[in-house]
Amino acid sequence: MKCPVIRPLCVFALVIAIGIGGSCKKARQRGIDDIKASGQLLMLTNAPFPPYEFYAAGGELVGVDIDIARRIARHLGVELSVGIRPFDELLPALAAGEADMVLAGLTINAERLKQASFSQPYIDAMQYLIILSTANIKVLEDLSGKTIGAQAGSTGEELIATAIADGPLHKTDCQLLALSDPTEAVAKVLNGELDAVVVDDTVALQLTAGHAVLSATPLFSQSGAMLSEQYGVAVSPSNPELLSAVNEVITELKSSGELSAMLKKYEAMTSQPPTAPGRVGQ
Ligand code: GLN
Repeated sequence: MKCPVIRPLCVFALVIAIGIGGSCKKARQRGIDDIKASGQLLMLTNAPFPPYEFYAAGGELVGVDIDIARRIARHLGVELSVGIRPFDELLPALAAGEADMVLAGLTINAERLKQASFSQPYIDAMQYLIILSTANIKVLEDLSGKTIGAQAGSTGEELIATAIADGPLHKTDCQLLALSDPTEAVAKVLNGELDAVVVDDTVALQLTAGHAVLSATPLFSQSGAMLSEQYGVAVSPSNPELLSAVNEVITELKSSGELSAMLKKYEAMTSQPPTAPGRVGQ
C-alpha cells in the first residue's frame, strides 16, 4: 500500500526527533501555541475511506474529514498538512507526537479513549456487510464458517475477532482476513476470495454502488440490535485547548448545516445512492 506523507509532516517529525535528541523517550506533544507558531496543523488519516477521505479523479485527497480538518486549521489561523498512515498506526503515531490530530472515520470507543482524547461525535455510523446479493447474511451468527474481511485495526475487525474468540462465531471455522484497504473488499467478494466484508455503513454503500451483484446490508447482533458507532476527532490528551477548538468547529458545522452539506457533496462525488446518506452525529 502506498503511504505518501506530505513533506511538512516529515520535516515536523525530524524537528521533533532532533528536538528530543534521543535523551528523552517520551514524545513531546505540541500545544496550541506550538501549532500557531509553526503555522501548520498536522493531521493524520488513512485513505481511501469514501466519503470521508478518498482520492478525487485528479488524485487530490478530498472528503468530509479533510474539509472538517481544514475548518479547524482555519479556526486556528494556520494551514492544514495531511499525512497518510495505515489505519492501525494512526493512534500510535498521534501518541508518539507525530501529528496533532487524527480524522479517519474513527469510531470513539473505550479502548481508544485510553490512547487519545476524542471530540464530540460528528457522524453516526453502524457496521455493514458487503456480500453477494444472493447471500443471506443478516446477523453475526450467519457468518458461521465464512471467510470474512475487515480493515486491519478497525472496529469491524475487532467485532469479528471477538465473535470468533468467544462469541457466536466461536469454533465455527470462520476465517478473518485483515485488509489494509477497505476498497479491496469489492474485488475480493466478487472473485469469491471473501464471503463478506465488515465495514462502516456509508463506506459499504459507496463501495458497492454500481455493482448489481453486490449488496451492502446492515449487520445485526444476535439479539437483532444495530451495531451503532460514532466518529470523533482524536487529539492528544495533553492538548485540551486543541480539543476545545475542534469541538467549537464541530458544533458550528453541525448547527449551520455545513456538515450535512459536506456529506451530500462527497457522497455525490463517489456516486452513493441518495437513499442512504451518512448521518450527522448527535
Ligand atoms: N469506523 C471504523 C473504526 O474506527 C473504521 C474506520 C476506518 O476503517 N477508517 O475502526
